[in-house]
Amino acid sequence: MYILFTYNNLKFFIIIIKNSNFNLSIMLNSRTILMKKLIAICPVCKKQIYGSDIDINHIDINKIKNWPLRYVHCHSDENNPLHALTMYIDANFSVRGREVSDFIKIQK
Ligand SMILES: [Zn+2]
Repeated sequence: MYILFTYNNLKFFIIIIKNSNFNLSIMLNSRTILMKKLIAICPVCKKQIYGSDIDINHIDINKIKNWPLRYVHCHSDENNPLHALTMYIDANFSVRGREVSDFIKIQK
C-alpha cells in the first residue's frame, strides 16, 4: 500500500510497510485455524485434543515467559479414570512433548 501526494511542488511517495489491521486479521485467522487444529492425542485413552480444548483464544503469548508452554489437560472416559496430560507447546502451538500423570490432586 502506498500514498502519493504533493507538497510545495515536491512529490512524496510513501510506502506503508506495516498495516496493523492487516496483521490483526492474519492473527485472528490463524487463531481460528488453531481452534480446529488437532494438537495432540492422549497416549492413555487416545482422546484427540484440539486447539479449542485448551482455550487457545484465551492464551496471550506475550505473557508467557518460559517456552515451551506447559499445559495440563485433565480428562476421563468410561474406560479410563481421570488422568492429566501435560503438553509442552511451542510458540507455533505445536506440541513438542507430552506426559501423563495418573495421580492427581487439585487443592485450592
Ligand atoms: Zn487421556
